[in-house]
Amino acid sequence: MAMFKKILVANRGEIALRVLRACRVMGVRSVMVHSEADRDAIYVKLAHESVCVGPSQSVKSYLNIPAIIAAAEVTGAEAIHPGYGFLSENAEFAECVEQSGFVFIGPRADTIRLMGDKVSAKREMQAAGVPCVPGSDGALPDEHEEIIKIAKKVGYPLIIKASGGGGGRGMRVVEREEDLITAVETTKTEAGAAFGNPTVYMERYLQKPRHIEIQVLADEHGNAIYLGERDCSMQRRHQKVIEEAPAPFITPKQRKEIGEACVAACKRIGYRGAGTFEFLYENGEFFFIEMNTRVQVEHPVTELISGVDIVQEQLRVAAGMPLSITQKDVHLRGHAIECRINAEDPFNFMPSPGMIEHYHCPGGPGIRLDTHLYQGYRIPPYYDSLVAKLCAYGDCRKQATDRMRVALREFMIEGIKTNIPLHLELMDDADFLAGGQSIHYLEQWLAERNEKEKNQ
Ligand code: ADP
Repeated sequence: MAMFKKILVANRGEIALRVLRACRVMGVRSVMVHSEADRDAIYVKLAHESVCVGPSQSVKSYLNIPAIIAAAEVTGAEAIHPGYGFLSENAEFAECVEQSGFVFIGPRADTIRLMGDKVSAKREMQAAGVPCVPGSDGALPDEHEEIIKIAKKVGYPLIIKASGGGGGRGMRVVEREEDLITAVETTKTEAGAAFGNPTVYMERYLQKPRHIEIQVLADEHGNAIYLGERDCSMQRRHQKVIEEAPAPFITPKQRKEIGEACVAACKRIGYRGAGTFEFLYENGEFFFIEMNTRVQVEHPVTELISGVDIVQEQLRVAAGMPLSITQKDVHLRGHAIECRINAEDPFNFMPSPGMIEHYHCPGGPGIRLDTHLYQGYRIPPYYDSLVAKLCAYGDCRKQATDRMRVALREFMIEGIKTNIPLHLELMDDADFLAGGQSIHYLEQWLAERNEKEKNQ
């Protein structure tokens, strides 16, 4: 079992740079694939080798499986890191990578498939003793009377969810019985068209939950550990905006209980690599909603409080090595917050790609910045608007938010719009500073802010 000599990175932007940095530290050579639009990206220049895999549109480049496999073949890479998004949770891709003789840096294809289907994921989690949102026992039947009966048991309001759904799509909240059947039929039709799978299931709709997730790592030697939790409740349209670790007001006892349940689930499904169990948390209880079988955008906050390099552990596990740490070695310390910096209007959220004319990045004690931006870089219009992740670490949450406020003020990205002004306002918001807000807080805050603006 030796570390890889060369791996291929099948992604772009800040996560491509993040993986490249892990490779450099570990002495692994890197091959970067890129689209025509990303030719001048800094991580492409910093990589040992690069291969253009297609035109700007993702479907022709970052989602182009044959081109990516061919790039691995011609460069002699041993493994492929998929990053997040794009092909990272695509079981066919994972399968294709392995069948072509490369290592997929992630779980096995059958695990991705199992956890990518929310009905089967929930079934596995229940069997492993992980608490789930009360709801239908698996997929909803076709008969309307049966659906109505199940809904009576679950209670209103409830939510109809597509088993194959993702990215906050394929869900419908139902308040009253008279709307039930239409909602089920519409969600089924939409899910069939969008995800190629019309299966839907039902859950109780939680009113004011928080989003709390558990980071896990597992290897092929029977070791599985949890690195504590993150609170990602600050969301807009189900997209995370600010994340933090640990989650405010979660006790060590709660952390241990839910962490151990996730570790048990990893062992049950034979999980491999880094993964995240996402939960809704309400009235002191955790309810599993889904698992992400990849590295997540917000992994740095966990790295900051645990000292564990999650991407390096991914590479170790993929190379067949054991995790470098056991649960006993995990000591969480301090508090970390991440602000997702998007190239968009801070308040109407219109994307704002273009040239960065002036750039100055923040620094100082406890600041971590993950970004591929530089002065003179042109943000292409074809991809996600996330362009930087600014993290602040402190002994306590207050020190972290204080450092974040200073860092946000220092961060100068001119020529395009960013959501830094939004983050700055939130860092002065009394409710945010109090911590523990629900997943609806940011939307409500934005709506109220909008009203005030109109009335001025
Ligand atoms: P996706 O895979 O599309 O992200 P999730 O199952 O993770 O779908 O749910 C996305 C979001 O939808 C959650 O973060 C939460 O805001 C909301 N949601 C999902 N299920 C429920 C539920 N049972 N009650 C309340 N809100 C829910």
